Amino acid sequence: MEARKWIADRMRQAGLAAEIDGVGNLIGRTPHARRIIVGSHTDTVPDGGWLDGAMGVVFGLEMARAFMETGGGGPIGLEIVSFSDEEGTFVSLLGSHSYCQTLDIQTALEQQDSHKCPLSQALHTAGIGDKPRIHLDPATHVAYLEAHIEQGPILEARGIPIGVVTAIVGIRRWHLDFIGQADHAGTTPMAMRRDASAALCDFAVKAADLCRTTGSANTVWNGGAIRITPGAHSVVAARADYTFSVRDADARVLTRIGAGINELLAQVGRVHNVLSVGTEMFSLAPTAMDSTIRDLIRSTASANGLRTLDLPSGALHDALVLAREVPAGMLFIPSIGGRSHAVSEDSKPEDIVNGARVLADVVTTIARRLA
Ligand SMILES: [Zn+2]
Repeated sequence: MEARKWIADRMRQAGLAAEIDGVGNLIGRTPHARRIIVGSHTDTVPDGGWLDGAMGVVFGLEMARAFMETGGGGPIGLEIVSFSDEEGTFVSLLGSHSYCQTLDIQTALEQQDSHKCPLSQALHTAGIGDKPRIHLDPATHVAYLEAHIEQGPILEARGIPIGVVTAIVGIRRWHLDFIGQADHAGTTPMAMRRDASAALCDFAVKAADLCRTTGSANTVWNGGAIRITPGAHSVVAARADYTFSVRDADARVLTRIGAGINELLAQVGRVHNVLSVGTEMFSLAPTAMDSTIRDLIRSTASANGLRTLDLPSGALHDALVLAREVPAGMLFIPSIGGRSHAVSEDSKPEDIVNGARVLADVVTTIARRLA
């Protein structure tokens, strides 16, 4: 809240009407009837870095200052937004879902943080629980632009200052259960075992092979959690639990891998004589960024003498939610060492300045084209 109030004051000093709404979204706008939204988020993860979403919000603030200092001409204005709880302390992408009216507010209010405090209580403690929520209006809002640090190593490794985000990747996540039988690990012949641990290991290796051979060049996957039960060196595992997820910018790739996972699960169950059950716990379709805005980011960077690289975003961003409502575009700047969600997160000053300049030029061009 202190950070939001700090930015709200600076928005007002720049001449914007600034307001914190009922879920903690901070919105600063010019008086124009049609506006381009520039936003990101100012919340962060525990022990997170200084740039993450905050950089994109500060870009918006600086853009608004320049806009107001030069007279705020033209029929298209600016709306600078710091979305609430992007990182999911209570609800992932809370602020952007509220803004776009794709939030189930009653369910959201019941969600608790790690201290068991529900969102409803946190909003009241912050003094905003009774405030109205501010929403996007397709008649008013003509586009959404977001700048963000890459949070990965690709731009730095390739020496490219501006990343053009093609899409926010889709995700599929499964919980896999392998149910065998506990037996003595010394006396039970191998051929008679129903070893859940062996089944899991076999599945894990083959699932990675499946993603490697049927995925795209950008497919990423992760076996994030394993539990072996009872988990003793002298007992054949009765049960093994595995969490596997895959991300890609192409929905067809995710469909293909999903079908492969189901086949593999059945095959591993047969080979190891265990019951294998897969439950899809989470699924999110990829969201493409607007192709016209992508072209515009590319040509604008080029006009500023900056090389670009098209790449998908493996992380979720507020642009994912906004892109379903208005034409949306997103640019990345390089992260030093690819580090993010850590105190060591940083970017070179010249990269930050270049990102701000390109984003401002893109917004100016969109405003001119739509005027
Ligand atoms: Zn972020």
